[in-house]
Amino acid sequence: MKSQNELGVPIPVSKPLVVRTIKEVTKAQREYALEKTEYNMFSFPADLLFLDFLSDSGAGTMTDLQWATLFHGDESYGRNKGYYVLLDAVRDIFERGDHPKRVINLIISGETDTKKLMDELYLTSYEGGFVNGGVHQLSHPNTFIVPQGRCAEYLLFSTIAPILREKDPNKKYYIPNNGHFDTTEANIAANSIYPVNLFSTNLMDEFPFDQMDKRNPFKGNMDLNELEKLIQEKGADSIPLIYITITNNTAAGQPVSMNNIKKVQKIAKKYDLPLFFDACRFAENAIFIKEFEEGYQDHSIPSIVQEMFSYVDGFTISFKKGLANIGGGLFFKDRGIFHKKFSTKEDIGILLKEKQILTFGNDSYGGMSGRDIIALASSIYETVDLNSLRRRIFLVREFARKLAENAVPVILPAGGHAVYLNMDKFFEGIDMKIDDFGGIGFTIELLKHYGIRACELGPFAFEWDKKTPEQRKSILNLVRFAIPWNAYNTSHIDYAVAAITELYNNRKKIPKVKISRGAELRLRHFQTGLQPVYGD
Ligand SMILES: *Cc1c(COP(=O)(O)O)cnc(C)c1O
Repeated sequence: MKSQNELGVPIPVSKPLVVRTIKEVTKAQREYALEKTEYNMFSFPADLLFLDFLSDSGAGTMTDLQWATLFHGDESYGRNKGYYVLLDAVRDIFERGDHPKRVINLIISGETDTKKLMDELYLTSYEGGFVNGGVHQLSHPNTFIVPQGRCAEYLLFSTIAPILREKDPNKKYYIPNNGHFDTTEANIAANSIYPVNLFSTNLMDEFPFDQMDKRNPFKGNMDLNELEKLIQEKGADSIPLIYITITNNTAAGQPVSMNNIKKVQKIAKKYDLPLFFDACRFAENAIFIKEFEEGYQDHSIPSIVQEMFSYVDGFTISFKKGLANIGGGLFFKDRGIFHKKFSTKEDIGILLKEKQILTFGNDSYGGMSGRDIIALASSIYETVDLNSLRRRIFLVREFARKLAENAVPVILPAGGHAVYLNMDKFFEGIDMKIDDFGGIGFTIELLKHYGIRACELGPFAFEWDKKTPEQRKSILNLVRFAIPWNAYNTSHIDYAVAAITELYNNRKKIPKVKISRGAELRLRHFQTGLQPVYGD
């Protein structure tokens, strides 16, 4: 008899606590709602959907522990208790590896020993890592809590851009990334810096779906040759920093290997450039390293996370992509390369802190409620739980495997948080030009017929028609199905697979799409009106 682990099906690791009923909505009702909301996926009322794969952002189901921790939230304006807990949780997860302190337990357990609370939580003082504490956070700040990842990006780029311009007003600056996320790209561009994508050359290579449990080509890696080339062509002083996105959301959610991170760090060091993570899905990235990178099978997730972060000088993060419904942050190493490079006239940490206070709130809440802060602190421990991660990765992989079995062109292997369809392949041999926005036509049909929402990340979202031929090269033509943490199980996936397959088999009937309002807008996938054009 096979053991439980040999069954090839993961052991269940959770069960639902609260049930929300999905409404019965007819196709005619969805059609009417689509028309009323200009066929824009982002405008469609979520409550009218059966399944929502638009984003995994903030849409996860919280755990009982998070809900319990939420009650300990403290809405004080200055130094709420969750602030201390969150800062130490960040140190636990990103710096302490297998030796976390978990001071959060003092709060959850209702510790009443005041001296203990003062010594271990409220009045500790430390410096030298990603999170300065006590007076050091005031004299040389390096930790910035904000509501979302993009707020961290905004803080970072809007603060460094004037410093760069002051150095040389006419210089062009470039920020390379293994794949800029859309808000990252937009925040960089909004500050007149050029975002550059250096996708791995194997990204679009074929991969057999029955190999997904056995190996992984780490298609999220940064192209190291292109990185060196860019630095040498433009000059190191034109590169404010190098960014690695883990996992690489724009490149089909593919993971980045430890080896690639190390090599990028080597290049960054050689040219004395700060290296940052866009760290939203660090935990998913870590499980890929554990499962598939040589030498890491016996390492724990926390120790892999610790090693990954030992190579970078700072990171921006959206905690909404983990188990938290809201939260983000910017962190950089105390007096590291980033700090040195940008503290020309004034301490860069002080400049960032001033902007944080001006735009989001004082540093101990940064625009978040105290309840959300403490729930977030508890959630980051659970995002590095091996069983939860395995369940998450398994579900994504099953989704991709079932689509591949039905011959639907899905990017393989599956990434960490989402399944991506390759729309170039999807429409191969069919009259659908790149600026007919077939990916959008597909998402409209999927929503209309089956009540399922997905997200085009291709020529429409990345504004193909507004870009130069050179820029167009880095636009992939994808539709993404993002899977929120703990929200769905295999029955949801099976319905989605059946619906997608049905549309794929009838792909000739998928409409082209015209932009009916706001084609010139920036970030237009959030705001424009669309019109499907059906053939005869
Ligand atoms: C979601 C995301 C962001 C932005 O975070 P928000 O919390 O949505 O503002 C940045 N980078 C990546 C890779 C993301 O997935």
